[in-house]
Amino acid sequence: MFQDRFRRIAVVDTGAHGGPGGVVRAVGFVTPAGDNVETVTRPCPCGAPAPYDACCGPAHRGEAPAATAEALMRSRYSAFVLRDADYLLASWHPSTRPKRLNLDPKTRWISLEVLSASGGVFDTTGIVEFRATHDQGVQTERSHFVREGGRWFYVDGVAAR
Ligand SMILES: [Zn+2]
Repeated sequence: MFQDRFRRIAVVDTGAHGGPGGVVRAVGFVTPAGDNVETVTRPCPCGAPAPYDACCGPAHRGEAPAATAEALMRSRYSAFVLRDADYLLASWHPSTRPKRLNLDPKTRWISLEVLSASGGVFDTTGIVEFRATHDQGVQTERSHFVREGGRWFYVDGVAAR
């Protein structure tokens, strides 16, 4: 569903002497916002130890849905960082999903801290409490998630402290 929105790119290092036959340094993707994501060398925006390509990337590209509520929450945070409004809407439960989402391009997301999480592979509901820091402040929220048809969806959230 999402694959066609991402253009797979290869970062080619032609070396100091130039010339043909450059060495592929990293394989990455261009997001809908036009940002280059070097998935091999670049860590995941959600802050997990795995690189983007093994963390939130597969969910963003529609290759593998998030297995847990926390994984979905992390992938949504990364989508905010990458300004991927389509993914945010697709992972939003239809009962609460807005018609459209205008992401403020000026907001710079800095870090995500998951404080507590429930909602595993055998659950149908989950709650994730997190603290997201951006350049204008901190957002602390308890988010509610449901799993339907094997996919987790964000339902809503309340500000927490
Ligand atoms: Zn991630």
